[in-house]
Amino acid sequence: MKYNLKYILPLVVVFFTACNNNQKTGNTKQQTELVFPQGEKITNANFTGTAYLQPLMDADSLNSISVGNVTFEPGARSNWHLHPAGQIILALDGKGYYQEKGSTKRILQKGDVIKCPPNVPHWHGASADTEFIQIAITGREKGPTVWLEVVRDEEYNDGVK
Ligand code: MN
Repeated sequence: MKYNLKYILPLVVVFFTACNNNQKTGNTKQQTELVFPQGEKITNANFTGTAYLQPLMDADSLNSISVGNVTFEPGARSNWHLHPAGQIILALDGKGYYQEKGSTKRILQKGDVIKCPPNVPHWHGASADTEFIQIAITGREKGPTVWLEVVRDEEYNDGVK
């Protein structure tokens, strides 16, 4: 029997593409639904719970900002901290919280934008039952992020749910 390569080759390509896609399932959400990679698990003491960071851009001589994709599993959050040159948070997916010192906690949904002023202590993270994915754009020209105390459960659970 004679097979025509013109018909067989596309089938082979489709088969291997399908196999490859099936292997990309190690993330909290399916890889195909994510805009940016989930990155590596954050292992430092500046977070409570499980969070992941994918650095997207480092500050350099042209842009004095760094950009990173952060994924918080439900209940995970940063410690209180401040950014000497401020930070912008772009909410990509899920349901998150953001709170500045002295203000009430806010709920963040996909599409929300937060402009966090310089030197204002705050924290951000996921809601208790839904993960949260955000892009953090952080000004770097006035020094590194200053990490403060842990967000206690009473603080985390206070206010809106
Ligand atoms: Mn921040």
